[in-house]
Amino acid sequence: MSAMRTCPIPGCGAGLRSGHLMCLRHWRMVPQPKQREVNRTWRYLRKVGTRKSIVEYEASVKAAIDAIAAEVERSLP
Ligand SMILES: [Zn+2]
Repeated sequence: MSAMRTCPIPGCGAGLRSGHLMCLRHWRMVPQPKQREVNRTWRYLRKVGTRKSIVEYEASVKAAIDAIAAEVERSLP
């Protein structure tokens, strides 16, 4: 939860508030099923805190980033 984290989407670099995994502009580009999966796995991680729940959360975050990273890269100048 460092204040120095930045948005992981290529070419963005926007600063992130703690608890956010990407900037709001890019989060809104993530398809809703993937947003729901991130929220679900995050709640589950907070509830149980197991190694497996961490792995599931990280996988859902990666899927959300992967879902828009290629699209964002294509739109870069
Ligand atoms: Zn961003």
